[in-house]
Amino acid sequence: AATLFIVATPIGNLGDLSPRALETLREVALVCAEDTRHTRQLLAHFGIERPLLALHQHNEDDQAALLVERMRGGDSIALVSDAGTPLVSDPGFRLVRAARAAGIKVSPVPGACAAIAALSVAGLPSDRFVFEGFMPAKASGRRERLAKLALEPRTLIFYESAHRIVESLQDMVSAFGEQRPAVLARELTKLFETVLDGTLGELLRQVSDDGNQRKGEFVLMVEGAGDDADGKIIEGRRLYAKLAEHLP
Ligand code: SAM
Repeated sequence: AATLFIVATPIGNLGDLSPRALETLREVALVCAEDTRHTRQLLAHFGIERPLLALHQHNEDDQAALLVERMRGGDSIALVSDAGTPLVSDPGFRLVRAARAAGIKVSPVPGACAAIAALSVAGLPSDRFVFEGFMPAKASGRRERLAKLALEPRTLIFYESAHRIVESLQDMVSAFGEQRPAVLARELTKLFETVLDGTLGELLRQVSDDGNQRKGEFVLMVEGAGDDADGKIIEGRRLYAKLAEHLP
């Protein structure tokens, strides 16, 4: 019977595409991709040529119904995103839901995921964690989100882009206090892979001072709030207010 395969692709190092991912991508009738040009290049690198179809947030609902019909007709389909695991801060949830609702088998071909790769090297408590993905782009929305997380005891995992990393660290210092331990993982599996650890205050200073530390892709992880978080947050806010007086 037809299957919808959810296939993870590398987050940088092409060596991380698994043999089973290659085999699956070779065998399906169609590969659905977030960005077909990007995926065509990836497949070409491995000598794979398959029909590609763009599936992104703007057409996913419409396409899902057509793709379900196609799988009902017997064609297996693979879903990939630009990097890492589909559905994790990437399209795919609607297609998977539609396929499952139609009784079609949905099967994972697991592999890289930036959040899990980052957590695995952070040295932060990893028995329980919360994936927060991308924060809202607007400062007000971001601060609101962070305020709600200030007392969260589990390790927090965020995705962040180069142009917002400093602002986000600033907002975290004010929401969680500058003493909260954190780890910043940058460019994992790539040439400039860097994992910085320290307090939020230290990370903010390092990233502000060194332009190279602001380049690339980031996973930002923050240790959960301890039992005395209330006090620390109040202290952190006080420090931040003092610091803010000296900022332009
Ligand atoms: N689906 C992907 C996954 O499984 O990780 C995530 C896609 S999301 C659109 C892209 C974000 O993932 C980036 O902004 C960054 O926060 C994170 N990311 C992706 N590749 C990374 C890498 N090599 N190093 C650090 N973070 C990365």
